[in-house]
Amino acid sequence: MPVYFIRSQQIQDRRLEISGPLAHHLRDVLRVRPGERLHLVDETEKGYVGEVESIDRSVLLVRLVEPLPRPPFSRLSITLGQALLKGDKMDWVIQKGTELGVSRIVPLISRRTVVHARRGKEGGQLERWQRIALEAAQQSGRWNIPQIERIQDFSAWVQAAPQKAVRLILWEKEPAGKDRTTFEARPPDTPVVALVGPEGGFEVEEVNKGIGAGFLPVSLGPRMLRAETASLTIIALLQHCWGDLK
Ligand code: SAH
Repeated sequence: MPVYFIRSQQIQDRRLEISGPLAHHLRDVLRVRPGERLHLVDETEKGYVGEVESIDRSVLLVRLVEPLPRPPFSRLSITLGQALLKGDKMDWVIQKGTELGVSRIVPLISRRTVVHARRGKEGGQLERWQRIALEAAQQSGRWNIPQIERIQDFSAWVQAAPQKAVRLILWEKEPAGKDRTTFEARPPDTPVVALVGPEGGFEVEEVNKGIGAGFLPVSLGPRMLRAETASLTIIALLQHCWGDLK
């Protein structure tokens, strides 16, 4: 069941008015009718069951009926550092990563990224990516929306990555089955950062720079995966190891 994002300040006396794109989606796309119930969540991750009281041209009036029980989401914070991909593959990684519970996606320019952000145009692209994240979060019933960061340079970002986090760099040349005690010894509540390269992969110097900055090289097995496959695989694996995909 989709969960729609609202702001707590919209709520007055257990009622709220929904307008703008969400009102259009509910009224004109889903053709919601008075009396129907909706699942809503606000920015403090408080969930509500709402009942549509009235619909007019631009506003839905909703009465909050009861609290919505929180599904068993894990608190695992997963940041995906994704080298820019061509065409709509980035959209796809954002959508699927959101469904799998990624917390933050940082688009990165590495040595072999082909798509260079059209200078000055990245604003529009970022807005579009953030909307894809919102829509995927809503459709998958998440109670929060992943943050899509502005495009950053791989090397600079790797140097500045949070020291406290478990930091991984996906490297197809890493021998599989290596010692993983560091990986498995993650203290609870430690955030995780995973770096995935572009279609052409990371250069060895980039992997070494990552290792030098505290990133662990991780293999996803003996097959060569497309970048978008690798991104979703690592998110699913992390959710399985430490999150809510048990
Ligand atoms: N260099 C490869 C393509 C890289 S795939 C080629 O020439 O075909 C894109 C990214 O996916 C890589 O940078 C890496 O981060 C990740 N990746 C792909 N297969 C992987 C594997 N088996 N193990 C770990 N990472 C992998």
